[in-house]
Amino acid sequence: MRICKQCQEVMLEGFDIKVEWGGYGIKISDGTGIFAKRLEKPKVAICPKCGEISLYIENVDKMDKR
Ligand SMILES: [Zn+2]
Repeated sequence: MRICKQCQEVMLEGFDIKVEWGGYGIKISDGTGIFAKRLEKPKVAICPKCGEISLYIENVDKMDKR
């Protein structure tokens, strides 16, 4: 459960990110170029009260912790 940083309201989670006109979405990667490690596609949480959005990764435990 995510709480809005601005107003402490419970946020609605699980929205997908889409880039308009493309539908490519975005990915978070570690590094650049072809050797970049692909990480999880970020999800979005939205505060129903003030409209604050928050990006998050669902499976954080898959990431390398350095
Ligand atoms: Zn809020």
